Amino acid sequence: MSSFGELLAATKARITEITPDKAAAELGTAVFLDVREMEEYDQGAIPGAVHIPRGFLESQVETKVPDRSARVVVYCAGGSRSAFAARTLGDLGYTDVASLSGGFNHWKDEGLRWLVPMTLTPEQHRRYQRHTLLPEMGEEGQQKLLGSKVLILGAGGLGSPAAMYLAAAGVGTLGIVDMDAVDESNLQRQLLHTVDRVGERKVDSAKKTLNALNPDVKVVGYDVRLAADNVVEIMDGYDLIVDGTDNFPTRYLVNDASLLLGIPVVHGSIQRFEGQVSVFSPYRGPCYRCLVPEPPPAEMAPSCAEAGVVGVLPGIVGSIQALETIKVLLGLGDPLVGRLVSYDALEQSFRTFKLHRDPACPACGRGATIRIADYDEYCLPHASR
Ligand SMILES: [Zn+2]
Repeated sequence: MSSFGELLAATKARITEITPDKAAAELGTAVFLDVREMEEYDQGAIPGAVHIPRGFLESQVETKVPDRSARVVVYCAGGSRSAFAARTLGDLGYTDVASLSGGFNHWKDEGLRWLVPMTLTPEQHRRYQRHTLLPEMGEEGQQKLLGSKVLILGAGGLGSPAAMYLAAAGVGTLGIVDMDAVDESNLQRQLLHTVDRVGERKVDSAKKTLNALNPDVKVVGYDVRLAADNVVEIMDGYDLIVDGTDNFPTRYLVNDASLLLGIPVVHGSIQRFEGQVSVFSPYRGPCYRCLVPEPPPAEMAPSCAEAGVVGVLPGIVGSIQALETIKVLLGLGDPLVGRLVSYDALEQSFRTFKLHRDPACPACGRGATIRIADYDEYCLPHASR
């Protein structure tokens, strides 16, 4: 049996160590891996470091540092835990690992750059625990959501589940655009609103529900009709748009403004028993007008009339929109860019269609110029579902 000192010496003999000044030259290229406990990390860390407490190293490193040939500089407070971690990384197949000699303490003593990482409060730790447990999201992902700004068009059938799930998930700023008042006929599907709020402005009702769900979220209401003269100003500064509107003029307007501003749109639509979702990522995938180059005449556009819709359907479609939003914000998985999911509630089936950019698209095609204009002649915009 060996003592701690002997074990450490034997471990150090089998790994590579690097001094802080040499390691500092690798900032920005190497992966700096911090294996200290959360309390230590919270008080200061090397900029850009990946944090995995030593006890979680084996279970989380493959997700957080997937490239086993990447250059990794692992550090702890004094250089012992990182030595054992470096050896473990070698056992896991990481081929280019060095342990920072003297650890973070030595790094600070040398006057090298460090910062206090943005961390979650104890309340946020508890609230978002199911997120931070996911290695694909972690605390970093949650921080990102808290720093994100999403604009939701319509506090109606689609906007309700989208806004509620995004608020619950901790998207830091939610803008809500809706120019309507709560109507009794909304309550069959628009879960943001309640019986005692009939007649109230929808943006105010939405704000009450969302802040009751999560006071962390800043809700910004826009009690206006989106139009050519305000769409750019309202959308500017948001990371992503959730489109829950139900009319062609607004979709066109939003599409063109999103191309101009470079903001992705998570599109959703519903009618009767069917729903569709896609993600329009400006110039990376098709836009709405690649799909629908010209708005249909008013009499052909059922969404412009008071078409019926089954109550639960917007809940499903709006929830998919919320999930796609989180994926786009965090760069998770494959968002529905260039794909359209079509949901049939009666068949209980999902189908996915491939969508392609149209080189002749009047909005995003070659030589197209963006003109922000109203399309009211096609059909009158009215309340979002
Ligand atoms: Zn297009």
